[in-house]
Amino acid sequence: MYRALYRKWRPATFDDVVGQPQVTDILKYQVAENRVSHAYLFCGSRGTGKTSCAKILAKAVNCLHPKNGNPCNECEACRSIDAGVATDVIEMDAASNNGVDNVRDMKEEIVFTPADLKYRVYIIDEVHMMSGSAFNALLKTLEEPPAYVLFILATTELNKLPATIVSRCQRFDFRRLSSDGIVAHLNKIAKSEGIDLTDAGARIIARMSLGGMRDAISLLELCAGTNETVNEELVTRVLGVGGGELPGQIVDAAADRDYPTLYRLLSDVVNSAQDLTVFFTELISYTRDLVVVKTLGDGAAAYLDLSDASFRSLSERAKRIPLGRLLYQSRLLEETLEILRRSSGDRRATAELALTRLAEPRLSTSPEALLARVEELEKQVALLRTGASVPQPAVKKPAPDVSYSPAPVPAKETPKEEKKPTPAEKPAETPAPETKEEITEKKNDKTDDKTDADESKQVPKWSLILDEFGRIKPSLGPFMRGSVATVSGEVVTVTLTVGMFLALVDGDETAKTVLLSLLSEHGTAASSIRFVSGAQKKNNDGQIEF
Ligand SMILES: [Zn+2]
Repeated sequence: MYRALYRKWRPATFDDVVGQPQVTDILKYQVAENRVSHAYLFCGSRGTGKTSCAKILAKAVNCLHPKNGNPCNECEACRSIDAGVATDVIEMDAASNNGVDNVRDMKEEIVFTPADLKYRVYIIDEVHMMSGSAFNALLKTLEEPPAYVLFILATTELNKLPATIVSRCQRFDFRRLSSDGIVAHLNKIAKSEGIDLTDAGARIIARMSLGGMRDAISLLELCAGTNETVNEELVTRVLGVGGGELPGQIVDAAADRDYPTLYRLLSDVVNSAQDLTVFFTELISYTRDLVVVKTLGDGAAAYLDLSDASFRSLSERAKRIPLGRLLYQSRLLEETLEILRRSSGDRRATAELALTRLAEPRLSTSPEALLARVEELEKQVALLRTGASVPQPAVKKPAPDVSYSPAPVPAKETPKEEKKPTPAEKPAETPAPETKEEITEKKNDKTDDKTDADESKQVPKWSLILDEFGRIKPSLGPFMRGSVATVSGEVVTVTLTVGMFLALVDGDETAKTVLLSLLSEHGTAASSIRFVSGAQKKNNDGQIEF
């Protein structure tokens, strides 16, 4: 029977677990000395061995012939747990259902002694995903569990757990594995499985797995499926990682606010069927390397697994990009990766939204984004002091409409630009700065509007509604800034300032539901919402907005 490589290589004893001695040594000792606690909390990022250790612990406490705290893996108890048929070992994934029912069942069955084993073990994965009422039920059972019950809770997000739960458990922190640790283990697996793996190939896989062994083994298996030598060239081809070129291009395009290139690169990724999570993982890893180079300079080489050529190109890029922007980028990408892993929705739209925000720190109010903006301004002030003109980012825009931003419109070369007035954030109702032509067009628009004024009218309190919307959907709020809303019958039409934002906002059904309820709260009864872009409204010639 075929078994996925990571299952086959899942550690069977505490001694097999790679790189977590701070956890496994203590657990082994506790089992050997019969000093097992009644509730454990395993914290740490994906693939660091939390679930594996939970399984090993479940076997170890029930094993008929434990060896030095490790399970024997041969007795009846060990084998029934390994085969998943032991009714006394119950695994729950709080991420797949919110766990209330499971916890209720648990409360009822907990009074009965285990059927076959010494301990009844409850393993609850991603425990932070449980609902409030499930937590309360769990808390009650954690308060005074019978001696034959053992709880093992696992989480990737400790901060989301109520303190009352954390304080009742013995806590263990699982570390991300070092690159060297992963490479060594991959080599061991490759040797045993007859996979021809080169050191360079193993290093790229280790980088891509961000310290998680399970991901690393899965990636190795993916590459080994081709039956070729797993070297640098094969890994970059199979995983679709550009050998460091693609992340660099994305970072450059974002810094230049070069939207056509950004969207083309993303489109290439999507069309090549490369997994978007792999793509974002690569971007995160690359951004981290940039931060290390930025802060340590030449001394960074010792901390990075890079060839000399890659290191030189990384250093060049790091000089060009301010630290604040890199920190903003790093945080934004991590958040996006998390969304992509959890969401089953439109992944491409999520990715596009993220890249747009990457290019526009001004759309975010996070401290990192503000820092990036301050750095940009400082640079411009310094340039102005020297009497030089402020260079504009080489923004390549497909339509003039895209140039919405509080900064002057860079695509249009006018002498006025050199003064570089950078207005602060506009109040919600104020449209973005416009060129003369646009203002004239706007005026024409307004006269047009007046002719059908009997049909559609402005939505009252729209700026208030936008403020509230921004609080509920902070990721979309910025794209709605400066928009205008009219109502005709039961249809509300929202005109966005930038055509490109249309695709990002329009696809989001929850955003529409939220808006409809806010509208009704503020006195506009509507049954549907449509989004249009300012430019689309102007020219009804079917020109597709970027
Ligand atoms: Zn055993």
